[in-house]
Amino acid sequence: IDESEKFRIEYWSLEEAKLRRQPAPKSLATRVAFVTGGASGIGRAVAERLAGEGACVVVADLDAEQAEKAAAEIGSADTAVGVACDVSDARAVTRALEQAALAFGGVDLVVNNAGLSISKPLLETTERDWDLQHDVMAKGSFLVSREAARMMTTQGMGGDIVYIASKNAVFAGPKNIAYSSVKADQAHQVRLLAAELGEHGIRVNGVNPDGVVRGSGIFAGGWGAQRAAVYGVEEKDLGAFYAKRTILGREVLPEHVANAVHVLTSGELSHTTGLLVPVDGGVAAAFLR
Ligand code: NAD
Repeated sequence: IDESEKFRIEYWSLEEAKLRRQPAPKSLATRVAFVTGGASGIGRAVAERLAGEGACVVVADLDAEQAEKAAAEIGSADTAVGVACDVSDARAVTRALEQAALAFGGVDLVVNNAGLSISKPLLETTERDWDLQHDVMAKGSFLVSREAARMMTTQGMGGDIVYIASKNAVFAGPKNIAYSSVKADQAHQVRLLAAELGEHGIRVNGVNPDGVVRGSGIFAGGWGAQRAAVYGVEEKDLGAFYAKRTILGREVLPEHVANAVHVLTSGELSHTTGLLVPVDGGVAAAFLR
């Protein structure tokens, strides 16, 4: 590992770190959360929810301006900060975690949410499409998990890492080879890291949402039109289409994903690791239509 990637600053004191160890406290009031892609959509809802539960929150996003704006809307300067971070760049990840540690002493709850979607059929998917998709989501979440785990294990403070994967991690999303593949990679990172980091009191879990159209930047940025074409519906009807195909008949909203992240990290599930929770209205259980 490159020297420059190592943390150069002091973390929490050993006494304080011990207090933060497993079993996780049943309140997020002592926790510091680092949410990648937290400036928009699901990440923003997660950051808001964790802050609402008392955690200090670092909104880390490629879009620094939006990250700062989101942090200012979520909390005060003492409880929420926005930092620039391209998760596919190891140095940027290290820098962002250092900024988090400078602001709040360390990080003990990480949400790997940053993402984009280049959904194309196989024959139209370019090498660059594949690389970008995998750089941001497979490599990006690996880098964030690795650097956060380094921070957590240095003082044996334990912690939580949560991946926002997708229903597509389990079931092929038609005509989006790059996206579905990278989501399967993220799901396997959950299992691999759960197995590896458990001895350090670090739990690794994930959420598999499906069809979160409202508030989602990736749906607004071209994915919506592509998915609508694949399913043969108008883009404006996509939310209703996704809702109709669920068992519950309701649209999945960013808040539903945020609720799952809260439950996974609240301490109520302190003996759970390596789990991917579907937040999809039941689609992964049964396609009704
Ligand atoms: P979004 O576009 O609203 O949010 C994604 C955020 O990630 C943006 O703020 C963007 O700036 C940021 N980002 C992109 N590249 C980045 C990088 N290299 N480094 C740091 N930040 C970066 O999208 P969303 O719908 O909220 O999606 C969030 C996550 O949820 C993604 O991983 C997505 O694959 C996953 N997901 C979404 C859905 C859905 O239906 N919307 C379903 C399943 C999974």
